Amino acid sequence: MEEKIIMAHGSGGKLTSELIREVFSEAYGNDTLSEMEDAAVVKVSEKIAYTTDSFVVRPLQYPGGDIGRLAVCGTVNDLCVRGAVPKYLSAGFIIEEGLELGLLKSIAKSMAETAAEAGVRIVTGDTKVIEGNGGLYINTSGIGIYPENRRVPGTKNIEEGDAVIVTGTLGDHHASILSERLESVGKIASDTAPLCEVTEKLMNDESITVHAMRDITRGGLATVLSEMAESSGCEIEIKEGKLPVNKTVKAFAGMLGLDVLYMGTEGKMVVILPKAQAERALGIIRSCKYGENAVVIGEVIKKSGGEDSANAGRLLLETSLGAKRVLTQMVGEGLPRIC
Ligand code: MG
Repeated sequence: MEEKIIMAHGSGGKLTSELIREVFSEAYGNDTLSEMEDAAVVKVSEKIAYTTDSFVVRPLQYPGGDIGRLAVCGTVNDLCVRGAVPKYLSAGFIIEEGLELGLLKSIAKSMAETAAEAGVRIVTGDTKVIEGNGGLYINTSGIGIYPENRRVPGTKNIEEGDAVIVTGTLGDHHASILSERLESVGKIASDTAPLCEVTEKLMNDESITVHAMRDITRGGLATVLSEMAESSGCEIEIKEGKLPVNKTVKAFAGMLGLDVLYMGTEGKMVVILPKAQAERALGIIRSCKYGENAVVIGEVIKKSGGEDSANAGRLLLETSLGAKRVLTQMVGEGLPRIC
């Protein structure tokens, strides 16, 4: 019979030690983690980026990824879109009793592989077992370092005339989770991926000045871009005809009446930079493993004079028919829990 997690695995005693040794240290042990001290001691730069995120996706495994890969990528991507080099992660596991040990091992292995791919080390962690029905929740925090003299991208740097680039197709992760849940016949692969190769190449290119970057997560492109428009006080316009969408995802979304603009993706981001640099940036992004479908989808039309402007900070979509409509952030809940 498949071995399962029981409450005693979270007792802090012998079974907890065994679980940590056999699952987590086995998967991603390193010098720092294996010291098993109360806190990891690591080397950082003068300025660091620091972020945290929790992951509650169901199902735990899906085509193209699992909750472990997602938990590493989500935190890594939040660091690298701020222009930092992701270095260290913490991993906190809240495990419901009944979770199959084999599944937990496979998720820990997936985290190890993804961390190696992203060049980060998981240096500290925690495990709790709660009553339940075989569920799993993971929190990851991450630290990224800044090489000397590196500029920090942020929405306050966005300027009129900037180009808006998206690094690949929209909605893949959302469609993957939904198709798994609906047990639909065709499998759609999630795009969950670390974006640090893309961000590092952009940040290290002397002729590129990235103004702002954001990874596109659960609210989809429309949510992330309208947040950026709002916080920068800029009017951003994107063209429907330019949006990259995988054929299968488009068909799947159409069938269910979903708008790909609000569908989550976990391996794509938005890059905003001066228009004159857009072609060079596209070349760089397309040379990366997770950037081959990068395109310019729009531009920053104007920067408002201040909060009194009626149109301060909004996102416009030019539809394929030439009409324009305002897009807002996602309202309510993007179903189902996809991250
Ligand atoms: Mg983010």
